[in-house]
Amino acid sequence: MEVTIVGAGLVGCLLACFLARRGHQVVLYERRPDPRAHGPDRGRSINLAISERGIDALRRLGLDGKVLDAALPMAGRMMHAPDGALTFQPYSADRRHAINSIGRAELNRELLDAATAHAGVEVRFGQRLVGLDERTGELEFDPGPGRTARVVIGADGAYSAVRARLQQFPGVSFSQDYLDYGYKELSIPPREGRFAMEPGALHIWPRGRSMMIALPNADRSFTCTLFWPHKSLAALDSPGKIKAYFAEHYPDAFELMPDLVPAYLDNPVGHLVTMRCAPWHVTTEAVTIGLVGDAAHAIVPFYGQGANCGFEDCVELDRCLDEAGDDFPAALELFERRKADTDVIARLALENFVEMRDKVGSRTFLAGKRVEHA
Ligand code: FAD
Repeated sequence: MEVTIVGAGLVGCLLACFLARRGHQVVLYERRPDPRAHGPDRGRSINLAISERGIDALRRLGLDGKVLDAALPMAGRMMHAPDGALTFQPYSADRRHAINSIGRAELNRELLDAATAHAGVEVRFGQRLVGLDERTGELEFDPGPGRTARVVIGADGAYSAVRARLQQFPGVSFSQDYLDYGYKELSIPPREGRFAMEPGALHIWPRGRSMMIALPNADRSFTCTLFWPHKSLAALDSPGKIKAYFAEHYPDAFELMPDLVPAYLDNPVGHLVTMRCAPWHVTTEAVTIGLVGDAAHAIVPFYGQGANCGFEDCVELDRCLDEAGDDFPAALELFERRKADTDVIARLALENFVEMRDKVGSRTFLAGKRVEHA
């Protein structure tokens, strides 16, 4: 069967590998240029925590070794109190049970290489899906040419064009819930060629209603992410205010951020959204249309599970294809059973924001030192 996947991000590429292994011909359409030639997009998170859920999917295709070789294991949380005191909270009594910090761009490149290593996979870069006619199966791309497809899988992320088309079908429900928080990335560079903080941990500065986290990168820097109310992010609008705020509330990190001011002023603010859609597929006489990854169930990042869940989607869809004898309409119908699980992770991810920004600190030494933002 020839399958068209829209979106050659993390999930689209991995799904292409699973489908090619089953003997399907896959054409991936990606709106961006080839990131292996052009470098990553600005404005996406630089690194990701990949856990066993995602590694299991990679392992099934023999991709885990290479990905884990480039990863930095994080065996627990390192809590940073406002006075700079550190407390390490292991994720497990067994230090081998770590989550892994992995560069998003490297992971995407690795998965693109894995997908295109299959003779049956073709990727067409720089082509954005702009139209889908369910009566004929015709897909329209900008720039063209178009294509007629029997099976289309939307792996085109939280603001999916494929899902936008599905939403117009009677009986398809959809919701999007934004937090009134945004995120902004900052950086802690290496110090004298070494990591400036412990690299084997996910660092958290819990500050009551807000927080900062940091994950290590292979180049010995850390990528920090602020999760603050939009109002608070906008309130720091001058070098003086930025420096004063960080010196007071994140003093240990402030010392390690020589480029804080330009990074804070230049880096974009990202939005935090939960998207829900049901069902995830529609079959007409001409075409079957399905969704996977963020296109089906975008969640907030506080459990570090969005990409992991998308990878697990690929495993589950592969299982459904087994059960359905590679009949895509039947397999996508079976795949709907996964929604109960993704609804749970969406809820847990929201709950974990409160846990990370507030409870992890208040249980230890931060009680009574909450920072109230403007
Ligand atoms: P995407 O990665 O969004 O890829 C979609 C692809 O489709 C893109 O390449 C895009 O260019 C392409 N596309 C979009 N529209 C079109 C179109 N019309 N035509 C053609 N192509 C199109 N997850 C984790 O597991 N661990 C983490 O630690 C983690 N941290 C995160 C931190 C932040 C700040 C954020 C925002 C998210 C985080 N996530 C994390 C979630 C993770 O980034 C997503 O779940 C994951 O990227 C989803 O992959 P995807 O392939 O479904 O979508």
